Formats: sequence, C-alpha cells, structure tokens
Amino acid sequence: MKRMSVKGRIVLWLVALMALLEGIMLIVMGFMGSAAITRTAEKTLEQTVRSSLTQIHPSGQGLELGADFQFYRSGVSTLIYSGNQTLLAGQIPVSFTAEEPFQNGLLRAVSSGDTQYLVLDLWMPQGWEGGLWVRGLMEAPESRPTVRNLLLVGLLSMPGFIGLAALGGYLILRRSFRPLNRITATAADINEARDLSRRIGLPPGRDEFSRLAATFDDLFERLERSFELEEQFTADASHELRTPVSVIKGACEYGLKYDETEEERQETLTMIRRQAEHMTGLISQLLSITRLDQGTETIRFQTLDLGVLAEALCEEQEWDPARLSLDIRQETVVQGDPVLLRRLLGNLVDNAFKYGKPDGHVWLTVSRQGGEVLAAVRDDGMGIPREQQERIWQRFYQVDPSRGSDSGAGLGLAMVRQIAGAHGGYMTLESIVDVGSVFTLHLPASDGAPAGEAGGTGAEKSAADGRRRAENGPQ
Ligand code: ADP
Repeated sequence: MKRMSVKGRIVLWLVALMALLEGIMLIVMGFMGSAAITRTAEKTLEQTVRSSLTQIHPSGQGLELGADFQFYRSGVSTLIYSGNQTLLAGQIPVSFTAEEPFQNGLLRAVSSGDTQYLVLDLWMPQGWEGGLWVRGLMEAPESRPTVRNLLLVGLLSMPGFIGLAALGGYLILRRSFRPLNRITATAADINEARDLSRRIGLPPGRDEFSRLAATFDDLFERLERSFELEEQFTADASHELRTPVSVIKGACEYGLKYDETEEERQETLTMIRRQAEHMTGLISQLLSITRLDQGTETIRFQTLDLGVLAEALCEEQEWDPARLSLDIRQETVVQGDPVLLRRLLGNLVDNAFKYGKPDGHVWLTVSRQGGEVLAAVRDDGMGIPREQQERIWQRFYQVDPSRGSDSGAGLGLAMVRQIAGAHGGYMTLESIVDVGSVFTLHLPASDGAPAGEAGGTGAEKSAADGRRRAENGPQ
C-alpha cells in the first residue's frame, strides 16, 4: 500500500467506498421491499374483511349477504363462524389446517404446513349465540423472489457503477495531478542538469497545484539568484585575494634578485607587510560577512550607550580631531554588540575620510528620534550618484575603484548593513554628488541602563536572531 501512488490509493478508496455504499443500499432496499410487500398484503386483507363485514346482515335464524359480498376476493378467503366457532359460510383453503383460536382485530401470521397465512378475525356482536366471527385468510405474499430479483439487479449493476466511479475518479485525478508531474519533472531536471534557469511555468490559476508551482518558480528564481551571487562572491573574493598575493610574490622575487642594501630590503618588506595587512583585513571582513550571513556570528548583546561608544571609538582611532566633529545627545542607549557596532561606525567614518575632500570635514552625530537611536556620519566629499546608491551596499561593489586614496574591496558597506540588520536596525543614505553623503544607522532604542565596560547585562545571541528582529524594520 505504501508503494502505491496517491492516485492508486484514492481510486482504491473510491472503489471500496462505492462497493460498501452499494452493499448497504442493496440490504436496505431488500428489507424495505420485503416490508412493503407484506404491508400491502396486510392492507388488502384488512380492507377486504372490513368491507365483507358491512355486507353480512344476520336476520332471524338465517344470514343475509349483500350483493357485493364475495367469499374469495383479492386473494382473501372470507369465512363466517357462529359465536361458538362453528363454520357457517365460506370455504377454508385446503392448505390451511392450523387450529387457530379467534382473536378480535389482531392481524397475525400463522404457519400451516409449508404455507404462511395472514389471519384477521373480526367479532360482529349480532346473530346467534350473541354474535358472529368473520375471519379473513390470505396466503402471505412470497417477498423473497422479488427481493432476490432486486438484489440480483443490484449485484449485476454493481461492477458497472464501481467501474464508472473508479474510471471517472482516475481520469479526474490524472488531470489534476498533471501539474504535479510537471513540478516533479522540472525539479528532477534542475537536480540532474544543475540548470537553475528551468521553470515549471504553469499558467496562473487558483488551484493548489498552480499556487504550488508558482511558489516553486519563485523559489527557483531566488535560488538561481543566490547561486549567482554566491558564484560572483567567490569569484570576487578570489580576485581580491589574488592581487595582494601576486604583489607579495613579485616583491619577494624582486627583493631576492635585486635588493642589496638594507634600505632596499626594508622597503620591500614594508610593501609586503602592507599587502599582508590588506589581506588580513579582507579575510576578516569576508569571514565576518559569511558568519553574519549564515547566522553563525555570535553577537554579544548588551545594553550600551551608542554615544559613549562613538566617543570612545573616536578617541582610540587615529582620525584627525581637527577634521572630525562629534555631536552626542542624550538617551542613546541601545541593545548591541560593542565590537560589531564599533566595526560599523569605524567603517562609516573611515569611508567618510577616504571619500571626502583632502581637507574636508566629517561629522558624527548620535541622537535619539522617537523609538530609534540614530548614528549619522556626514561628510562633504564627492557624494554618490543617485543610481548607484542602492548598489553600494552589495558586496565588492565600488562606485569607482580608482576613487579615494586607499580604496578597499567594496566589502565595508555590505558588512555595515549586515551588522545593522543583525541588531534589528537598518541603514539609510542621503548623498549628493560633490556636496557630500550622510550614512545613518537606525537602531531600536532601549530603556535599560547601559552596562559597564565589562558588559554585565550582556546576552549572547546568534546573528540569525538579530536578523529575525531586523525583518520588522525597513532595510
Ligand atoms: P570600499 O572598501 O571600497 O570602501 P565600501 O563597501 O565601504 O567599500 O564602499 C563601497 C563604495 O561606496 C566605495 O567603493 C565608494 O565608492 C562608495 N562610498 C562609500 N562611502 C562613501 C562616502 N562617504 N562618500 C562617497 N562614496 C562612498
């Protein structure tokens, strides 16, 4: 049964159900048919005996019978007995040999040899010995042949009906299941040929399969997109890592061949160190992005003041204080991971300097607006063209790789957005070319008191939990 297809199972169920229903119907019909035949006979007997009764008029020492009186009518034999049960008129059927006592008004079945009789006695309180007995006798109708015929017809037609139901059911199911076959075939094709561009392509409809097919098509679309992104990501990551590796390799070969003085060697080693540092930064960004993406990055949430965190960050970093203005307002407490939030703000301020004018200025403002704490990093730099503003959040995307003195790999903002999302927040950008940009982090405000540096009220959560919270806020 388990190996049987769904179609087979439904058809089998239909057949069994039809057989059961028809069986029940035949039994009910048999009983009802037999009861109806008996009831008709009883009615005939009663009507005949009662009508005979009206035709009997006892007069003096004799009996006067009406003109319509018949001793045998509609299968009913009418017998007239005296009060002491002596037969006065009528003929007892030969096969009725039973000694049946008289009972007034009781219609009953009486067996006489092989024959069943229906008997009805009526007492007529007139005539000799106080009155007369009128007895009606009728052979009980044989309902068995009729019922047998009924059952036979039912049984003969049963396979036809069941076959029809099974065939109809099968055809409807086959038609209805056709889209499912298409879904299975497409999924199998995708699996075998690893061709994610295939689609089921069912015409839109309101039935379950059309909706399922549409959902699968959406899923394939997203899978294809995410595989493309994954491939792109791998290609970009390899490319970005290959560049510093080749530089290091080239520098080593050059140094081994040509570096003679201590000064030359220092120069080569410094270059190698710079490239190695670049690679380290890249690898740690890649790791962070992947972990946040997969939800495996452990986020140590704690109640912290974003303003205080921003101040501390500015003190630690080697940003030119003359070019950086800090504006910290009240009530800027949030739930967050200080390490990740520092990384986020650090990236934004680094970018603001990197893509700002050489003598430009950067403003970092932390404030509260309704239920949100905002950290805005503004610069008066080159700005970002409107059509590129959505794309800069993509991994490895750079507006112009030659922009900025020490251009990175285009991973910073992707990571910034992921960290914001993991905290249940989001990023916004306002930018005008040649005027400047404002990158703003929006985080849900917290009413708790910030923990000390040790982070006493901290709680570990995975990035997936944070992202789940982020789903409620705009991205
Ligand atoms: P990168 O490592 O290249 O800086 P990011 O992801 O941080 O990568 O930024 C992506 C791109 O967005 C950058 O290449 C740059 O072109 C643009 N960008 C980022 N921040 C700014 C800014 N403050 N002003 C102008 N352009 C910016």
